[in-house]
Amino acid sequence: MIAAAQLKKRFGSNEVLRGVSLSVAHGEVVALIGPSGSGKSTFLRCLNQLETIDAGEIRIAGELLVGTDAQGQCRYAPEAEARRLCRKSGMVFQHFNLFPHLTVLENLIEAPMVVAGLARAEALQRAERLLAKVGLSAKRDSYPARLSGGQKQRVAIARALAMEPEIMLFDEPTSALDPELTGEVLRTMRELADERMTMLVVTHEMGFAREVAHTVAFMDEGELVVQRAAREFFADPGHERAQAFLDHML
Ligand code: ATP
Ligand code: MG
Repeated sequence: MIAAAQLKKRFGSNEVLRGVSLSVAHGEVVALIGPSGSGKSTFLRCLNQLETIDAGEIRIAGELLVGTDAQGQCRYAPEAEARRLCRKSGMVFQHFNLFPHLTVLENLIEAPMVVAGLARAEALQRAERLLAKVGLSAKRDSYPARLSGGQKQRVAIARALAMEPEIMLFDEPTSALDPELTGEVLRTMRELADERMTMLVVTHEMGFAREVAHTVAFMDEGELVVQRAAREFFADPGHERAQAFLDHML
């Protein structure tokens, strides 16, 4: 569904991604874990074109978003094409990023109407269905400031789903939440996984990685150190640095 090969990214002299290859198959849930600063967020942001890459290749649903030519130059697909491919992925951030001046319902219909060109009635129908799905129909007319962190994050998930993405990218969706609020968000994500949504989830929730993810990928210092089936990874991470990280987390 999404495949990154040999991604390289630097910020000034800081080489943040040093040739990262990771792919997520249709219907697969991949947990991306690793120490702070290892490049996990940067990697997700590259997949969603919030950052440009310096070298490597990204394919979305088999189509080339960006590749490197024979001269070693990075070439992105033409803008309209790149935008179309990026719409296949939905992103959920640590800090929700809801539009504060819009109600919950307005947050959900904005992109479908403005970006995807849906009629208001259709966008509303979709939004109501998604709010019911995340258990927040009663909050449809509330402003984000009036919601708990867990509710905000569930709205953010519903908002991403409103664009009908083929893959969902999550960047530590629960790490800004009080512990008692993480459960409701993880439950929503687990339901999505049960419906076979393709998901790439950066997380520190080892329980989620173990129980929901099919695959665990471990990053350290800009490298993808290991990627293996979740069951195998937790039985034997297969690499010293991954083992040390797990020992620290569990
Ligand atoms: P965390 O678990 O703390 O979220 P991470 O694995 O997501 O960490 P990144 O946020 O991808 O790590 O950061 C990787 C490195 O890139 C860090 O050294 C960070 O300082 C640097 N970095 C990230 N974004 C930028 C930026 N926009 N400009 C300069 N440096 C950046
Ligand atoms: Mg991060």
